[in-house]
Amino acid sequence: MICTCDNCHYTFQSDALPLSCPDCGKETVNRRMGGRVISGPAVRIASEAEITWFEQSQKDLATEQNADSLREQMTTDEYNWSLIMEFEHQPKTKEARESTAAYLSSIRQDPDRAAELYPTIRRLFSSKVTRERGDLRTAGMSEPITKPDEIPAAYGSALRVLYSFKEDRHGLSFLLSPPNLGNIRRIDLEKIAREPSAAYTQFLPDWEKSLG
Ligand SMILES: [Zn+2]
Repeated sequence: MICTCDNCHYTFQSDALPLSCPDCGKETVNRRMGGRVISGPAVRIASEAEITWFEQSQKDLATEQNADSLREQMTTDEYNWSLIMEFEHQPKTKEARESTAAYLSSIRQDPDRAAELYPTIRRLFSSKVTRERGDLRTAGMSEPITKPDEIPAAYGSALRVLYSFKEDRHGLSFLLSPPNLGNIRRIDLEKIAREPSAAYTQFLPDWEKSLG
């Protein structure tokens, strides 16, 4: 059964209703009922809506873990490229999600189309990085030389993607110099379009499905 705790709202699967919450440890909680406060067990059986939410969040987690493990199996170029692709296609509306799904499906099925479209995405991304660097200079901010765990939002979202790159095959270390347009330019798009790895081939339809 799916249980939920009214103290901390932890929702979880369990064979039986536990006496205390496995997350916060509470046994009882006070509930307001018709103007009176009644003490009762903290953990109760989840409602229909909570169960639906729980199941969806489990699915989302599985999809996310799958995407992460696929990314680890990709080549370095594919890994970096998948970050750019996701950045350039963050559909917010239903229509945009549909058009992105159709787009992913078309490049997955047609290597020629992928080889033709990828350079456009690369140009878009590179120009955003250039613009964000310009904005940083205008604001009088200097870019960190070492690769920070988390780039402040002020650095711009495209730059943050660039800083998440895996180091490229030329072994250039971000510790010596910040990643630059060369890191983007060196991604072998022809190879990704025409000879994708099994992990990249699997990544596209997974992403496509996640949009539906
Ligand atoms: Zn709890």
